[in-house]
Amino acid sequence: MIGVVSAMLREYSARRNFALAVQLSNQASKDFLTGLHNRRALRKRLEYVWRHAIREEQVVSVAMIDVDWFKRYNDHYGHAEGDVVLRRMSRVLQAHTQRPLDIAARYGGEEFTCVWVGNDAAGLHTLLERIQADVHDMYIEHQHSPLGQVSVSVGAVQIEPHRGIDVDATLRRADKLLYTAKRQGRSRVVFAPLEREPLSIMYLGPQPGVPLQLPS
Ligand code: GH3
Ligand code: MG
Ligand code: MG
Repeated sequence: MIGVVSAMLREYSARRNFALAVQLSNQASKDFLTGLHNRRALRKRLEYVWRHAIREEQVVSVAMIDVDWFKRYNDHYGHAEGDVVLRRMSRVLQAHTQRPLDIAARYGGEEFTCVWVGNDAAGLHTLLERIQADVHDMYIEHQHSPLGQVSVSVGAVQIEPHRGIDVDATLRRADKLLYTAKRQGRSRVVFAPLEREPLSIMYLGPQPGVPLQLPS
């Protein structure tokens, strides 16, 4: 009898430890505020995507997305409202990263990272355009942005991992393009498609609903 009870207790405790471990590992890989992957999980998944893309000789697209004038937003509307914006942003990004190898992550603060595998330049272009359109369609008021609404800037690159480019160099390059988008006025996408140089730059109109002006 004592043996049975102690076996049952051992079993219960093993199950409980397992459930706890799963919970902890989910917590460790998920961003608490948005439910997206955190930076650590992004890194892990990117390395997996890289190996896959090298094997299959596929193109990988990486986008860094940063909310514009977000400090001013927090200062004016409060940190809690800022959190709501970050959650809404994360839902937009999630909606456009639905395939198994896609990744949407919170890189840190108000900066996000999206990854797609196997898209050509036109495909990436469409995705970025849709993300911008969704952000504009949410029309979140931002009195201290020149646009009057919350916007994002995006830096995106397409690369072929089998040509020897690594994860860090790619993230750095996307971040540099994001910086360019900021410098050029925000609320825009600067992207370097695989087969095209120099950079293509898409500007968003100052009003919601104004279509992107595409480079010729
Ligand atoms: P830029 O257009 O150049 O990106 O300007 P910015 O104001 O968005 O950028 P800056 O780096 O100056 O400020 C980022 C702000 O993001 C400041 C910080 O308080 C806010 N922030 C970072 N993480 C969180 C968060 O989890 N919740 C909220 N509400 N705000 C956050
Ligand atoms: Mg910002
Ligand atoms: Mg930032």
